[in-house]
Amino acid sequence: MFCYQCGKSEVLNKGLCAECFIKQYQILTIPSDISVKICTHCNAKFIEGKWIDANLIQEEIIYRTVEDSIEINHSSKNPVLDMNIVQMRGTIAELTIETTDNVFGEDIYEKHDVKICLNKDVCPTCSKRNSNYYEAVIQIRSQLKKIENKEEIDVLVNKILEKLYKKDKLAYISQKNELKEGVDYYIGSLKSAKKLSSAIQNRFGGLITESTRLVTKNKDNNKEIYRFWIAIRLPSFSTGDFIEFEDKIAEILSFNGKKISAMDLDSKNLINIHWKKSANVKILKSRKDIKKTTVISKSPKTLQILDPKTYQVVDFPITPDIEKYSIGDEIKTIAIDNKLHII
Ligand SMILES: [Zn+2]
Ligand SMILES: [Zn+2]
Repeated sequence: MFCYQCGKSEVLNKGLCAECFIKQYQILTIPSDISVKICTHCNAKFIEGKWIDANLIQEEIIYRTVEDSIEINHSSKNPVLDMNIVQMRGTIAELTIETTDNVFGEDIYEKHDVKICLNKDVCPTCSKRNSNYYEAVIQIRSQLKKIENKEEIDVLVNKILEKLYKKDKLAYISQKNELKEGVDYYIGSLKSAKKLSSAIQNRFGGLITESTRLVTKNKDNNKEIYRFWIAIRLPSFSTGDFIEFEDKIAEILSFNGKKISAMDLDSKNLINIHWKKSANVKILKSRKDIKKTTVISKSPKTLQILDPKTYQVVDFPITPDIEKYSIGDEIKTIAIDNKLHII
């Protein structure tokens, strides 16, 4: 067999001798002009009908675009690529791509010049955002006259939205209204607003009620457009408060999005209170009303302590929860309606 280029007799590949094969060999092919549509606001890239990869820095977009446009010769097994942006003029980037590889024992070096044009556009998410689009309003209200932990709530809201934004580009606050009775957060997507409101409820407790309102009609198809209102009524109590609920005196131990957990001070039983019934919770005392006192005597059946306020001796029948105390021990008490409870 003879090389069809030079006529030599040792043919290596596709009818060519080694020398001729290397001469025409290309490690990679890439168009010299590439244009890509990106969003001015979030840097998302429009590719195959979809906006992807938001929030990358411009250089990263350029490098990724180049990588996506490169075709590597399948005879090159381990090409080394070195890309450099040589110049950036407005929205046009000039790059050099240098590559080396060893093919059939021969070292090959190539340099390609590529021009990338970034065509600026606005993606649908950003255009919604810019037009203050929202799907839901979260209303933070309180059983008290005003909301006590506004700043804490604000920090949580921003933190959660930042997390949700990674998967939902409409997880943003389009508007925030501070009102006398609370705060309204207008949220880009309903999905994220729901997740956000349950996160707020998990942390701060409260009752959630949802409603929809017709806001407008779509002019093009005459379809009615609804928005969701999610109201969170924050409780007036917090953990450690002493409450009355359905004739029981209890201490609030914890709460989550579903219920309030409290301990009955008399029976020491756990009581679960659904948020729907939280309006029936009456606050009696708080943690700061707890007073310390000392055990002054103990018999098999009774424990005697000194009332921290009146200094009178009070007898407690020994129950499993106070059995552990001995004379001289310091114990915590709370006085509710002139009755002393050991806690
Ligand atoms: Zn040849
Ligand atoms: Zn965008």
